[in-house]
Amino acid sequence: MDLRWSGEQEAIFEAAREFGREVVAPSSEERDRASRFDHGIWKALAESGFWKAGVPAELGGDGGGLANYVAALEGLTLGSQDSGFSVTVGAHASLIQVLSRWGTAEQQQRFLPDLFAGHVGATAATELTGGSHVTAVRTTAEPTGDGHYTLSGSKSHITNAPVADMMLIVGRVAGLGKRDISLFLLDRGQEGVSLGENEDLIGLRTSPIGPIDMDRVHIPPERVLGSVGDGLTVLYWCLALDRLSFGVIASAQMRSMIPRALDRATSREAFGAPIAEYQYIQDKIVQMKVGAETARALSYATLSAMENGDADAGTLASCTKLASAQAIVGSSLELVQLFGHMGYDRTQGVERHLRDAAAFRIAGGTDEMQKKAIFSQLLAASRSNSL
Ligand SMILES: Cc1cc2nc3c(=O)[nH]c(=O)nc-3n(C[C@H](O)[C@H](O)[C@H](O)COP(=O)(O)OP(=O)(O)OC[C@H]3O[C@@H](n4cnc5c(N)ncnc54)[C@H](O)[C@@H]3O)c2cc1C
Repeated sequence: MDLRWSGEQEAIFEAAREFGREVVAPSSEERDRASRFDHGIWKALAESGFWKAGVPAELGGDGGGLANYVAALEGLTLGSQDSGFSVTVGAHASLIQVLSRWGTAEQQQRFLPDLFAGHVGATAATELTGGSHVTAVRTTAEPTGDGHYTLSGSKSHITNAPVADMMLIVGRVAGLGKRDISLFLLDRGQEGVSLGENEDLIGLRTSPIGPIDMDRVHIPPERVLGSVGDGLTVLYWCLALDRLSFGVIASAQMRSMIPRALDRATSREAFGAPIAEYQYIQDKIVQMKVGAETARALSYATLSAMENGDADAGTLASCTKLASAQAIVGSSLELVQLFGHMGYDRTQGVERHLRDAAAFRIAGGTDEMQKKAIFSQLLAASRSNSL
């Protein structure tokens, strides 16, 4: 067992970190204030070859496994310290990975080159009526014969939607019975598809997010991803990858808080000594380190389980998401506390960590849904004597 990167992954990590530091970080504060997505940075990321990481060579990738993608995401986040940009990257990467695994050759040829070259992808499950109960989506495809459908419905709070060129939509097929969840591939310019305005969130403001409306959109057979009625298999894998990405981003962000916390704690004095002398303060920084390492170790365990197709990969992904979300919220709150008033001041850039972190407990499935998934799996394992 070896949890270190290979030489190739080390190089991917370093290149992405350099890109994050040099290209993403400089405008990050301004984009956060303005809630702005930068197409120029996105194009430059594509040109850097970022999307090839973890994609089979025959599809135009680097031929490496998911670990290559994780190395790239971790490096990018550490370099940029821009959670919003990384969440946008994670959403796009999920679509690439899903197409690489479940797309037909025609779908891969049609969509992957554009997604590698700077088009933006989104995956849409959540609707205004609720996001936690994923299988209760109301978006519905009506069969019109010969494997064609018309798709209608509305999605909300979808990462990348305002700027998306292509979308994976979670819907149900009318008249199929219980197993009816299916996945549909849509283009931005398709008749009946409208993308709404950017939502005004408190955090992750560098990640565009918004609604997608579908009014009787024509879906030919070649735009169904996977089997009709079997969308959950692909969707659950996609959710596991999203949760892994959140773990990687959270871990990298917590690591990036530590030097800043140490710098402040050793330079700020109270009661005649640097506040770093006080154990209450030391504890805050120790918890950041423990949170970062816990999130990282769980992310790597999930990565390994997903690569090996282990039965508990989904449960590990939920553990990763839950632990890393709670740790990044706790670490961000303590970073603000450590800075005192200056942590609460919007000009210092400390409060942004807290605004961004709050989303980690909601996006990709809430904390409560991770607990529900973990408990259900434990109960099922207990009943089958496989705990
Ligand atoms: C930054 C961000 C990015 C997002 N990106 C995407 C995206 O790309 N694609 C996408 O499809 N969605 C996306 N979402 C939406 C997200 O997946 C949903 O917000 C989330 O699943 C929760 O759904 P909801 O907001 O409708 O809350 P609800 O489902 O209305 O839940 C409200 C509260 O009740 C709790 N709750 C619900 N049921 C139970 C239960 N049985 N037991 C205990 N507690 C329960 C929930 O945990 C939550 O705390 C994003 C959200 C955010 C914040």
